[in-house]
Amino acid sequence: MEKHKEKIKCPECGKRQFAEVLHTLPWWSYIHNCVSCRYTIMESEWMIVKTKKKVKEPLKAGIAVEPVLYAVLKLLTLVEVNDVKGLTHKVKITGAEGYIPVFKTLKEAEEATCNGKYKITLVSG
Ligand SMILES: [Zn+2]
Repeated sequence: MEKHKEKIKCPECGKRQFAEVLHTLPWWSYIHNCVSCRYTIMESEWMIVKTKKKVKEPLKAGIAVEPVLYAVLKLLTLVEVNDVKGLTHKVKITGAEGYIPVFKTLKEAEEATCNGKYKITLVSG
C-alpha cells in the first residue's frame, strides 16, 4: 500500500506530529491517533502544519489536488501500435522488460484487470 506522511496538529491538545496517509481507493485515508492524547483525528479535523511547502487547506483527496492516473499492475511486453493506414501491429518493446498500462479513469483500469486478477494503483499524472 502506497502512503505518505504529513505533519498535522492535534485539534484536542495541539501536539504537532507526523501522520501517515494511506493511499487507499478511491480516496486516501486520513485517520490518525494523536501520539500525545490518543485523540482520533479524522479527515475533517486534519490540520496540516505548514512547512516549506504551503498547503492551503486540508487535502480533500489527492484527486482534487493533482491529476491521478490508474496503473494496472500487470507486466506487458507487447505494445499495440497503429500505422498510418490504421492497421494495428503488435510490437515488442525494447529497452525495458515490459511496461504497465496506465489509464485516465478507474473504469478503464478496472476493465484491464481481467476481473480483478491484477491490482490497480494510483500514480500521479
Ligand atoms: Zn492530541
